[in-house]
Amino acid sequence: MTNMIEYFIDGKRVTPGSGLRCSDINPATNEVLGEVALSEVASTNAAIESAVRAFPDWSDTPVGERCQVLFRYKKILEHNFDELAQMIVDEHGKTKQEARGDVRRGIDCVEYACGAPSLMMGRTLPRIAVSSSFSREREEGIPLDSSLERVPIGVCVGITPFNFPIMVPLWMWPMAVACGNTFVLKPSEKVSLCALREVELAFEAGLPPGVLNMVTGGPDVVNHLLTHDDVKAISFVGSTQVAKHIYKTASAEGKRVQCMAGAKNTMIIMPDANKEAAVDGVIGSSMGNTGQRCLAGSVAVLVGDSPQWFIPKVVEAAKKIKVSAGDESNCGMGPLIDGASVDRVTKAIEDGVEAGADLLLDGRTATVPGKGCFVGPTIFDNVPANSALAMEEIFGPVLSIIRVDTLDDAIAVTHRSPYGNMAVMFTDSGYAANKFKNTAGAGMIGINVGVPAPMSVFPFCGWKDSFFGTLHSNGEDSVRFYTEGRIVVSRWL
Ligand code: NAD
Repeated sequence: MTNMIEYFIDGKRVTPGSGLRCSDINPATNEVLGEVALSEVASTNAAIESAVRAFPDWSDTPVGERCQVLFRYKKILEHNFDELAQMIVDEHGKTKQEARGDVRRGIDCVEYACGAPSLMMGRTLPRIAVSSSFSREREEGIPLDSSLERVPIGVCVGITPFNFPIMVPLWMWPMAVACGNTFVLKPSEKVSLCALREVELAFEAGLPPGVLNMVTGGPDVVNHLLTHDDVKAISFVGSTQVAKHIYKTASAEGKRVQCMAGAKNTMIIMPDANKEAAVDGVIGSSMGNTGQRCLAGSVAVLVGDSPQWFIPKVVEAAKKIKVSAGDESNCGMGPLIDGASVDRVTKAIEDGVEAGADLLLDGRTATVPGKGCFVGPTIFDNVPANSALAMEEIFGPVLSIIRVDTLDDAIAVTHRSPYGNMAVMFTDSGYAANKFKNTAGAGMIGINVGVPAPMSVFPFCGWKDSFFGTLHSNGEDSVRFYTEGRIVVSRWL
């Protein structure tokens, strides 16, 4: 019988009870890795209660001591780097190189959180005003000093997607706990094993019981977390549809919420672009991680005569990508996460053909392994600007090409999208790049860079339907998200 994937509560692994469950698979082989409990509300309560109990002592622990745990954790992550990357290959299906990138970027977030002693520092302004003296003997007024302190908020919750199993949880909990909060993580049911290992290693680093807990689950567990009185803040990363639900529900309950959501990202290729960089950039961005990335450039807008050189080269490059299990040698693209994703991507290709786009490369007929959830690289040309191919997130290796005459036409395409995560331009012209940056309507801009992913010191800055909230994850935004400001005004009589 397949094992249940455990929870991590109060510093130890716990086996969930009975109830709804689903299988966690290796998408390259369809092998079942474990069973995931989906509706364990009783254990979810135990996780929250553990976080509530741990909060007073942990928030009283000096920030420098809290960060010592994270310094040790970073070292442990480096030590276990290969094991974690292989877990990602097995559970998610990434190539080895992509899996290593996931772990590396996650470690960057831990490093940033180690800086909490300076990041949490408040501000002081002495003698902000002078009040009149009470005392007849004292002529001079009494100065008022004012300061802003940053203090933890309590129990925080993280709800994460499948596509970066190690990194996205690390966007959240290290900074939250460095700032003195306690945490409950609810990872995607498709990659719960990676999350369990990530959490367990934090306890090897000396995190006290209850400071970080992990539960698995689906909508029942999420909805319980969103409405629980003891939860003060919710961080979510996932699709726009679920993000809207999370944002509405949790903010109506008075909680602080940040929701990083879905995307449909445009890449503009100008006629003067460096050809090699543009083709490499578009292939890496659209096909990398099998297109399952919120920073996937899935629409290429070709300006003027750029299609003449761009299209033959991009099709040739896509044809060369080897599709296989992520740990096979020379693998260029792994599987999609599950069978439902294969069905969704295949349907998007069928709909694209029906909408009148020209199918230049068909991933349904690519050479792929006999078992597993594979679809090969797919490229459409002459994609109608308002079709699903151009407007909707497919989350698979499908590149849609739109041809336009001018820079202004290309920028207009980016504005049609309800999303605003990322926009990219390949050009040699500073004028075009500046105009594009200022008007593209996206929060993360790439200029001659295919995936402008912010490093952990900057916020992950989606706009429009790619983000709901005020403070983004990562960078200084995350410090503000995970702390409350406290103003102190004092005078000494
Ligand atoms: P998803 O929205 O299906 O799931 C995300 C999380 O929400 C999971 O933990 C899942 O269990 C939970 N969930 C799913 N349905 C729910 C429901 N009805 N009620 C409550 N909770 C529910 O997303 P996914 O398929 O795991 O990830 C892919 C999506 O995430 C894409 O849209 C991608 O663009 C987005 N994403 C965004 C960013 C970003 O920073 N903007 C980063 C990574 C991924």
